[in-house]
Amino acid sequence: MITSVPSHRRRSLGSHQLQPETLMMGYGHDPAVARGALKCPLYQTASFAFRTAEEAKAFFELAYGLRERAPDEEPRLVYSRIDNPNLQVLEERLALWENAESALAFSSGMAAITTALLTFLRPGDTLLWSDPAYGGTEFFIENVLPGLGIAATGFTDHRGGQLQQQALEATQSGARIAAIYLETPASPTNRLVDIATCVAAARTLGETTGRKPLVIVDNTFLGPLWQQPLDLGADLAVYSLTKCIGGHGDLVAGACLGAREHLVQLRSMRAVLGGVADPHTAWLGLRSLETLKLRMTAAMKNAQQVADFLGDHPRVTRVHHLAFLRRGDPQYEVYRRQCKAAGSAFAFEIQGGEVEAFQFLNRLQLVKLAIGYGGTESVIEHPATMSLADLTPERQHELGVTPGMLRLSVGIEHPDDLVADLRQALEEA
Ligand code: PLP
Repeated sequence: MITSVPSHRRRSLGSHQLQPETLMMGYGHDPAVARGALKCPLYQTASFAFRTAEEAKAFFELAYGLRERAPDEEPRLVYSRIDNPNLQVLEERLALWENAESALAFSSGMAAITTALLTFLRPGDTLLWSDPAYGGTEFFIENVLPGLGIAATGFTDHRGGQLQQQALEATQSGARIAAIYLETPASPTNRLVDIATCVAAARTLGETTGRKPLVIVDNTFLGPLWQQPLDLGADLAVYSLTKCIGGHGDLVAGACLGAREHLVQLRSMRAVLGGVADPHTAWLGLRSLETLKLRMTAAMKNAQQVADFLGDHPRVTRVHHLAFLRRGDPQYEVYRRQCKAAGSAFAFEIQGGEVEAFQFLNRLQLVKLAIGYGGTESVIEHPATMSLADLTPERQHELGVTPGMLRLSVGIEHPDDLVADLRQALEEA
């Protein structure tokens, strides 16, 4: 069959659709333009050279909008804050996991989130957001956006019903709701927000006000394998690539996936704010994507085995693992509709309080005491005194964070070894 799509961009073999894990090996990289290199080389360069003065002139005319792009003209590379081959391949491959039209990579998850909010919110707008969100995101929403004249209203009803009501009341009082920002599941308790209900609320608002708010979902925790917000009608999925996607605990990066019309605007903002992923980080991201499905699947299965062990242990009072949700709980219905698996990070509570939690942590030998999640290595932390230490005791209580709560991110070690470590620490403590 004759096709105009070059082999490194084919997503099917005849009528057979190729899966993302297959495409991660070669999609977007043409060995012919890299001296035959099987793997995409690292383009560790800040600038790209022009061959002639005429070529440079033509580029800048286009870049500064002095002329229209010719029908077959490809935008060329000039400077790595704007674009770079490693970034391009990473973005093409990231988009495949959520079947997104387009993707952009950033220097961190926070760079992706803040650049997205600054792109789509204007003074006088209101942002509705699911409370709680990651600490950095909350800080930006509560402390930075108001200074720019952007109001923010948090909602905590995890079924979204209250959101709909709140949103309609807000518009009746004259608020201009420009975006609905969700993070689900919430850390550390794994509370879910119903994405489809929020998408429906955004549509209703669009019909009543003539302006549909963008639905932006932080999909770091379960994505892109176990939750796909774009499929559920969200406009943008944002990620900290530092977690499951980077997966080796050795890079800091972020991403945003969505429709081309939105990402064109976001790309311009990224270029001026400068939060782009550098070439080496993008290259590391490509390395990571090749094993993404293997790693996330292994870690998710390990986490289930570890959670089952903890759930049966007499010293453990509660396990906040999504697979422990039971029929009849509204969260169970959201989980069934929205998620494909429970992921690899969850909280659990042990008998006693901070003293017992610290004794347990100090006795662990394999599982490291560190923040972060989604890596190959298992890590554990004490949210009340570590990641959420800046919250008042009242706020911690409101979020369900107790002194005996620990958040565990399960890696890809042998699960029996992890269980052995947790068992000896629990029994000694
Ligand atoms: N979103 C979530 C859910 C996170 O957990 C984090 C970091 O832990 C971020 C965003 C921020 O990502 P980064 O640390 O890559 O800036």
